[in-house]
Amino acid sequence: MSEAMDSIDVTKKGAALAAAEAGRFDALPIYKPEIECASREDIRALQLEKLKETVAYAYERVPYYRQKLDEMGVAPSDIQTLEDVRKLPFTDKAVLRETFPFGLFAVPLDDIRELHSSSGTTGKPVVVGYTDDDMDMWSECIARLVQMAGVVPGDIAQMAFGYGMFTGGFGLHYGLQRLGCAMIPAGSGNTERHIQMIEDYGTTVLVATPSYAMHICEVGEKMGYDWEKSPLRVGLFGGEPCPPGLKAEIERRMHIVCTDNYGLTEVMGPGVSGECLAERYQQHIAEDHFLWEVIDPETGEPVGEGEMGELVLTPLCKQGIPVLRYRTHDLTAVHTEPCACGRTLARMDKVRSRSDDMLIIRGTNVFPSQIEDVLTGIEEVTPHYHIIVETRGGMDALIVETELRPEAFRDSFEAMDALRARIAEKLKGTLLVAPEVRLVEPGGIERAIGKAKHVDDRREK
Ligand SMILES: [Zn+2]
Repeated sequence: MSEAMDSIDVTKKGAALAAAEAGRFDALPIYKPEIECASREDIRALQLEKLKETVAYAYERVPYYRQKLDEMGVAPSDIQTLEDVRKLPFTDKAVLRETFPFGLFAVPLDDIRELHSSSGTTGKPVVVGYTDDDMDMWSECIARLVQMAGVVPGDIAQMAFGYGMFTGGFGLHYGLQRLGCAMIPAGSGNTERHIQMIEDYGTTVLVATPSYAMHICEVGEKMGYDWEKSPLRVGLFGGEPCPPGLKAEIERRMHIVCTDNYGLTEVMGPGVSGECLAERYQQHIAEDHFLWEVIDPETGEPVGEGEMGELVLTPLCKQGIPVLRYRTHDLTAVHTEPCACGRTLARMDKVRSRSDDMLIIRGTNVFPSQIEDVLTGIEEVTPHYHIIVETRGGMDALIVETELRPEAFRDSFEAMDALRARIAEKLKGTLLVAPEVRLVEPGGIERAIGKAKHVDDRREK
């Protein structure tokens, strides 16, 4: 191999993605290879050791778990293999709410350095507390995943998440600093100012929800900002699922490489898993800190490797709040064969659906992600859509609003009607439910600054 081939400068716009596409993963740095590239046996041995400690710790320090395990007749010493995790009780969001605010904390508040909470859209929010060690682990998990996404020390990272109680803002902030980046804590909102800051400060990394990144892209285009010449190189997405079509569109129009990561407040926040540049539809799980299971959401029994089911996570050695077998309600499949990027950590398919966002329409199960996938395959429409379900004459009616691309707009009513009929036919073929399709003018579907809300269920209960 020539010397020129060996020196890939990943700080150059497009270089990390180009290296990945050429299979040059040896050119992309790995934050903690002794863990990220460890053998499966070593990973499992480490997980078992930490699982034993976690169960003993939860039993000793959290009355809720001690009582629960006693009732089930399980002692911490019963955990002898990783499969023994199935002897433990599941934890769901209701438990975290019932014990609001500090009932599951395993340490006195003196030892807590930071509190976060999930948005309490229904009832009490979930409150989580982090010790010094928890903060350290959280930062490292994020540092690993941002490096996996092509970020390097010295990058200038601009935050477009809101800060506040939400874990996304601070989590990414700490992790990017841990890697050695300069943070610009811009926060959400004021899109034109974001674009001005990218130009003024030479921002190379943007942290945003994918829908807000798309909005920044569009506002920049309207301002005449040249994204190809922009210093921006990497987009780090989170806060909401990222449809593949939307990600590809942002990459093309902003000339950046975009990845997303997965996490949830109840087990830590962002940083549970992240996308590498080899497998764009999957995310490596930080397995030294999280034991994963995939179960049948109905029976609670494990499904086979690579099969779709509900993700269950047990954080390993979290001090503030040890959580056993947290039911995420997120549907995914996990794969353990080695990845082309060189990492051996298991990969989960990106979460596109939650077991609880399934819509039952006229007796048929419909996932918003199925609608998204069909729309992504239709070139006349943008990745923006809105789903409405309502009751008409005692029956469920499914309405899908989809946004036309400017170049697809036609003056002829017949042409537009034919397009609408074609989209409705494609949706019906996948969903097995006939929707009403409404074409919305370009830009007509509202862009979310935070999480995009795709479904409006107006049915009479
Ligand atoms: Zn990989």
